[in-house]
Amino acid sequence: MIRMALLSESTLQKLYSIFSKDRCLIDPASLEHYGRDWTKHFKTDPSAIVFPMTTDDVVSLVKLARSEKLGLVPSGGRTGLSGGACALNGEVVVSFEKMNRVLEYNEMDRTVRIEPGVVTETLQNFAKDKGAYYPVDFAARGSSQMGGNIATNAGGVKVLRYGLTRDWIASLKVVTGAGDVLELNKGLVKNATGLDLRHLMIGSEGTLGFVTEATVRLTSPPKPLTVLILGVPDLASVMKVFAQFRAKLPLTAFEFFSDVALKIVTSHTHLPKPLSQDCESYLLIEVENTDDSTEAEILETFEACVGAGWVTDGAIASSDAQARDFWRLREDISEATSPFKPYKNDVSVTVSKVPEFLALTDAALKKGYPDFQVVWFGHIGDGNMHINILKPEGLGDDQFLKRCKGVNEVLFEIIERLEGSISAEHGVGLVKRDDLLRTRSLEEVTLMKAVKSMFDPDGIMNPGKIFS
Ligand SMILES: Cc1cc2nc3c(=O)[nH]c(=O)nc-3n(C[C@H](O)[C@H](O)[C@H](O)COP(=O)(O)OP(=O)(O)OC[C@H]3O[C@@H](n4cnc5c(N)ncnc54)[C@H](O)[C@@H]3O)c2cc1C
Repeated sequence: MIRMALLSESTLQKLYSIFSKDRCLIDPASLEHYGRDWTKHFKTDPSAIVFPMTTDDVVSLVKLARSEKLGLVPSGGRTGLSGGACALNGEVVVSFEKMNRVLEYNEMDRTVRIEPGVVTETLQNFAKDKGAYYPVDFAARGSSQMGGNIATNAGGVKVLRYGLTRDWIASLKVVTGAGDVLELNKGLVKNATGLDLRHLMIGSEGTLGFVTEATVRLTSPPKPLTVLILGVPDLASVMKVFAQFRAKLPLTAFEFFSDVALKIVTSHTHLPKPLSQDCESYLLIEVENTDDSTEAEILETFEACVGAGWVTDGAIASSDAQARDFWRLREDISEATSPFKPYKNDVSVTVSKVPEFLALTDAALKKGYPDFQVVWFGHIGDGNMHINILKPEGLGDDQFLKRCKGVNEVLFEIIERLEGSISAEHGVGLVKRDDLLRTRSLEEVTLMKAVKSMFDPDGIMNPGKIFS
């Protein structure tokens, strides 16, 4: 059993011998700060926060944790939305914020070797300085760390064109829960030598081991981008517009948000509304200007959508500043809704099933929960929707949570029926743990647990996350 109580004095002294007192914190403010991620509803109770500087520090920690039966919670930028970096039961939180160096740039391989605490935006800027591009991008870029992105296989706003974090990881250095150091794939493009353990680590939410180094691929920057916002009259039109634009233009993003979302975000940011009339939903579309005809093609496609009745209004950003403001209308939704303590869901279906999913879910929520204000947004071009429910005024926290669980029943039943996923990109962590079997089979989960026990024989790695 992993440790469930505060550290004994002798264990604390052993931690100090690895980390020294300035890299092993036990004061209440640090425990509170580092013990949780963006999910605010868990009562956290870590026993210490440690800050490794090297892979060897991590190996020593794992050895100590195995002998003392101590739970370890890997921690990045703590922007996770699944409770994956929350320590609830006296675990030691392992923060990578001091392992944040860019170690090596290899121009020929077009790769960059980094420590896990490198912030996503720092890597993006590093790539830009080299005339290259790191394309995984999302609103938490300024705080989330590459270790956390790898552990959650982060997606974001450019998946449509560039794929997920997984697609950019050339190699990993990992310390397993057994204390072994693995060098996975060594940066190779081609490597047909059995199971690719790198891909087991990516998305494993800190349950198998620690990422202590990664080699990340870069690509060429896109040509100039055009950003437009379109207003659509109903949910049924959304994917018709997507099909039309995708057929005609090189899209780099296709994002969706509802009018409720727009009202909240404009009130929070004081940004102007993008269109002169209110619409039921909005699409933010980003197109790469690959040649001189792109702009005319955008207008033609827009007009075709208006002609078909799928779009009622639209605006094209006329400057970089306006393009950034358009993006903020989409990307600041999480922050703008955060004071309302929303109950979040992040779900996916295949793109072809999105219209059916939207129709079924919208009807079910309106019928069963007419008093709930639902904020819809998401990466709809990937079949990924975020559904946030705002707590009605006057409803107690417990009552709200109970009713949201009822919403989950309805929502997950639809997702199961459409063979989707109850977590598209935020992970399972604590939030979706008890519902994992909704969209993964018992056989799959049994194999996952067997894999975990090989990597982490004593169950010290992020205990209670993904499965109990
Ligand atoms: C405003 C906002 C917008 C967001 N938008 C998106 C989005 O569009 N797409 C998306 O995918 N996510 C999004 N997220 C969620 C979040 O940013 C991602 O999950 C991100 O990858 C988490 O990175 P982090 O460094 O903050 O990790 P943390 O929250 O610190 O940790 C996440 C998980 O990774 C594990 N972990 C951290 N570091 C390591 C390591 N070195 N080794 C092993 N395990 C480790 C933790 O134990 C935990 O399970 C958003 C979050 C916010 C707040």
